Amino acid sequence: MVNYMCKTCGTQFAATDQPPETCPICTDERQYIGWEGQQWTTLEALQQDHHHIIKTVEPNLTGIGTHPSFAIGQRALLVHSTQGNILWDCISLIDESTIAAVKSLGGIAGIAISHPHYYSSMVAWSHAFDAPIYLHADDRQWVMRPDPAIEFWAGETKSLGAGLTLIRCGGHFAGGTVLHWAAGTAGKGALLSGDILQVVSDRRYVSFMYSYPNLIPLPAPTVRQIVAAVEPFAFDRIYGAWWDRVVQSDAKAAVDRSAKRYIAALEG
Ligand SMILES: [Zn+2]
Ligand SMILES: [Zn+2]
Repeated sequence: MVNYMCKTCGTQFAATDQPPETCPICTDERQYIGWEGQQWTTLEALQQDHHHIIKTVEPNLTGIGTHPSFAIGQRALLVHSTQGNILWDCISLIDESTIAAVKSLGGIAGIAISHPHYYSSMVAWSHAFDAPIYLHADDRQWVMRPDPAIEFWAGETKSLGAGLTLIRCGGHFAGGTVLHWAAGTAGKGALLSGDILQVVSDRRYVSFMYSYPNLIPLPAPTVRQIVAAVEPFAFDRIYGAWWDRVVQSDAKAAVDRSAKRYIAALEG
């Protein structure tokens, strides 16, 4: 029995004799089947030719990214807190040297993930650190490797302690979640947004899409709902899903001007 992994989205599946027929994450209209057709790999194969780059991105925040890039290419973030470290978003690769490096940083007390495109190898990470996985219940149908470590949460926010709050924004996925880190960015607050609020190339704006690869926008009321969800929280910086996708400062104003620009475009 093998935990097959989709090469296009990086999702690891429940163990089977044969590879699954399709990847539901990729056949969904928000993703796509790889241009060479559906292809599968395994964590063991990935460990042969990929490794991790682990670096501090600001005090008490460590990035973990796979090199060379794999699947969607997001990097994970480890938020250090007095009540244990939270792994924000997940990645497909995990190996012995990564486990040793993360243990030297204090390990992982919990894993929280923005949306199903980053569920990746969450169960393997959870087992390595004996850490629960917090997923929004509205995205339950997209879990491809069920496990008792997964704790579904419902509603609009969930506190993880130490000033860390999961906020359900919806939009890209019904359970689309961001993590507010009150102590981040020298106490001004930071938002870890995955691609629920997508930091765009000029890094002064974010965007909000139903599908990024297929360029399917979201309706104006949904964009307003995303902005309203983060409005009660103070933050000066937004960390998107990739190393350099960061709104460095004045990020709350960036969200407001981004929503205004987006809605103006939609409404003509
Ligand atoms: Zn896939
Ligand atoms: Zn996504």
